[in-house]
Amino acid sequence: MIDAHCDLLYQLWLHNYDVNFSDNLQFDLTKWRNSPVKIQAFSTFVPDNVPANQQFNVALKMVEIFYEKIIYPNPDIIPIQSKSDIENLEENQLGAILTLEGCHPIGNDINKLIRLIDEGVRIVGLTWNNSNAVADSITSHNNKGVSRFGEDVIQLLNEEMIWTDVSHLSVQGFYDVIEQADHVIASHSNAAHICPHPRNLTDHQIKSIIDRDGLIGVTFVPEFTKEADIVTIPDLIRHIDYFIEMGASDQLCFGSDFDGITNTIVGLENVLGFHRIKSYLTEHYSKSIVEKITRQNFINKFPRIK
Ligand SMILES: [Zn+2]
Repeated sequence: MIDAHCDLLYQLWLHNYDVNFSDNLQFDLTKWRNSPVKIQAFSTFVPDNVPANQQFNVALKMVEIFYEKIIYPNPDIIPIQSKSDIENLEENQLGAILTLEGCHPIGNDINKLIRLIDEGVRIVGLTWNNSNAVADSITSHNNKGVSRFGEDVIQLLNEEMIWTDVSHLSVQGFYDVIEQADHVIASHSNAAHICPHPRNLTDHQIKSIIDRDGLIGVTFVPEFTKEADIVTIPDLIRHIDYFIEMGASDQLCFGSDFDGITNTIVGLENVLGFHRIKSYLTEHYSKSIVEKITRQNFINKFPRIK
């Protein structure tokens, strides 16, 4: 299986947790190795309370944590920077993808984004919940779209064959990305028709992602899954059913948001929950759909070939 979003790097930057095993982490290396997840995306997420002039350094610090705590000490964990890296993964190896959640750490300096791409970032979220020089977020009252600088950012991502991530983005920003980006992903968003949360995708947005042959990462955030105190795996499956009904079976993957969430879906308390997702899918869907959702869609659409 492949998971397009988690916030382990943020937790490791905040706390002195043991990356190998910690009860405080929803994702650690022991749980990962015991889960069905073969490839995991790790997001560089700089909280917006970090002063603007320090945000880029914090992003670089998280990149350092990625290499020093996950990649270098573990020869079986391979950094994934292209589709061929995935195809070359051996049976006993795991893949790790570096991503950026929100462009606020780059300010209005395209060179900072170039640096992060050089470091291996392959999915770039234009915003988190705070608006920035690239675009407004979904929580902004203005709903401004992609700025002039943001257009340069998307152009660079297109040239570099990097995904533009629309999760957290304003509605206008979303449609600007649909128009401008070659490789679109909503790395952790569910269906608004099933759970009307602003972070979720409307039917029209889902159709737009299908038209652009983009990706949608079904996410385990309970608040995006059902308006209820207790949210269960069948509640999450309703989103998958709905996406498939909408014709998005070639778009689906997962973006758990582990270590970015406090509340969890029952049975999905940590990365080991992917076992339950996998057996649920295997029981209820055809082999080809399961194969697409759990890995093949993500691999097929990985923009950078080599
Ligand atoms: Zn997020």
